[in-house]
Amino acid sequence: MSKCMNGNESMKDVIISLLQKNRYNTFLKNMVVLKCECGFSEKITYYDFLSSGEFEIGQTIQTISPFISESIHNETIRVTPLNLSRDCPSCKNKITEMFPISLENLIPILQMQPPDPIMYG
Ligand SMILES: [Zn+2]
Repeated sequence: MSKCMNGNESMKDVIISLLQKNRYNTFLKNMVVLKCECGFSEKITYYDFLSSGEFEIGQTIQTISPFISESIHNETIRVTPLNLSRDCPSCKNKITEMFPISLENLIPILQMQPPDPIMYG
């Protein structure tokens, strides 16, 4: 892949293209709840959340890794939140919700190819 990744828009494209390859991944069938101040709430799947493209890639922060590993000398890890924003269908205000998985954790999950169903037939 020679595509230059500059900025968050490109990373968004990467996520959306990974999603297309993983549309049957059971991980993406997990639900996230969107709640509006007006009382409206909606459950959508991770897949719908991300494939809508209505999310923003937040500011990356450095944090201390919760994992202790001999191979990792530097214990700080990068965490980039994904923030969904969509208009409330009821009151038209913006609903914002943070995706429960950071960008750094999401990408490896999406890069794992689902098992070939023929192997289990
Ligand atoms: Zn609302």
